[in-house]
Amino acid sequence: MLVLKLTDEEFYNDACVLVRSFYPKEDVVSFRSKSGFDEGVRIMEIDSSRASGQTKSELHDSFKKELYTKLVDETGIKLPWGFITGVRPSNMFLKMLEEGKSDQEIKDFFTDFYCVSQAKADMALEIAHKEMSLMKRAENLSHKEALMTKRGRIIDGYSLYIGIPFCPATCLYCSFTSYPLASFANLRDYYIEALIRELKAIPEIYGSARPATIYMGGGTPTALTAEQMDRLLDAVKEIFDIDESQEFTIEAGRPDSITYDKLAVIKKHGISRISINPQTMNDETLKIIGRSHRAEDIVETYKMARELGFDNINMDTIIGLPGEDTQMIKHTYDEIMKLAPDSLTVHALSLKRASALNLWRDKYWKTLTSAKDEEFDYAALIASKMGLEPYYMYRQKNMSGNFENVGYATPGKECIYNNLIMEELQSIIACGAGTVSKRVYEDGRIERCDTVKELKLYISEIDEMIERKRKLFG
Ligand code: SF4
Repeated sequence: MLVLKLTDEEFYNDACVLVRSFYPKEDVVSFRSKSGFDEGVRIMEIDSSRASGQTKSELHDSFKKELYTKLVDETGIKLPWGFITGVRPSNMFLKMLEEGKSDQEIKDFFTDFYCVSQAKADMALEIAHKEMSLMKRAENLSHKEALMTKRGRIIDGYSLYIGIPFCPATCLYCSFTSYPLASFANLRDYYIEALIRELKAIPEIYGSARPATIYMGGGTPTALTAEQMDRLLDAVKEIFDIDESQEFTIEAGRPDSITYDKLAVIKKHGISRISINPQTMNDETLKIIGRSHRAEDIVETYKMARELGFDNINMDTIIGLPGEDTQMIKHTYDEIMKLAPDSLTVHALSLKRASALNLWRDKYWKTLTSAKDEEFDYAALIASKMGLEPYYMYRQKNMSGNFENVGYATPGKECIYNNLIMEELQSIIACGAGTVSKRVYEDGRIERCDTVKELKLYISEIDEMIERKRKLFG
């Protein structure tokens, strides 16, 4: 047992995030003790008293730096992102670029002060540069110039997210709003009806039917039937001026939900980008994570999409899945290279509290190994061999090995929606059950409103969901 003694409880959250990064499978608990501890318990004392003139964020940083240094001494482990605990490190790099700092100044600052590894600093800087040029593309779509504000760059207009919360079955690591078809398939028609009603209200509430980008995710959008998808896309085209949008992505998602008919419908509606997500190309792992298809089905679905003429296909993968060693992970990327997708997203497994993986931790956690540098380096190598460049990145809590999720794409085929949502540069209007809309104000403030997760409630209370949006965006 390791006991951290904090002089100020305000630092409890910072401490939890950092300690979990060093001890991902341990429970972190908080308790007050006046009576001291048994002999043999190691006590780490962190002095968090405020030095004169320190701002709140400087105070948090100096606390985290002291704790990080002590944890490195204790464990001998150095984290790739040092003591940065936020989910958007590239945003910090982007801000410094916009302030006119040189590449070297920025890299030195992150490696020296935040203890970020040289490799991660290089990658985050490359992504920040890429984001700057992608934002110019997004601004061209904006009806006004991008607004330079106190906070930095804010892009006028909005992007649209459409959530389809159905899946063929629930994946072991899932914590999204997702309802398995076995029990909820009969609600799909009612859901689409409610969703179309919510979508119809947007142009009137926002005063524009021209989203900069559109993203349909979930869940798994292809858990709808071909006819249902057709009906929904007809409605989207009728309500929104999608020819004015920079891109329209549909996360086709799990190969066990994709059919020729569904892909043909998506193609017919001129959708510019789809995602087919293997996560792994190892059959044993697919079984463990709850997918009823094999790696060869992924290949077949991918080829089907190419034959139909899709020329911008993304593939999502996860490093750190139960039972996978480095060899298996390398096999996944070798197989993906044979397919040559236009973009590749590399996730580190994130242990979400609500996932089955966490709930059944006794069964699965012994098969989890922490993700390794070598595995991320291999994924990056394969991406570069395919001509893909990193263009967005984010982190989540409790990620395997404390790594990050990185999106790579062929230049010109990036998904700008991903940058917009990660960097919070534009308002996002999100429709569907369990979604969150964000309004980004010119002064940098962000306000949110959500919709209920529960399917039947979403359907029956759709007017209330619309009202919530009217309050935020109207
Ligand atoms: S496909 Fe995605 S949303 Fe559906 S169950 Fe798996 S992780 Fe969850």
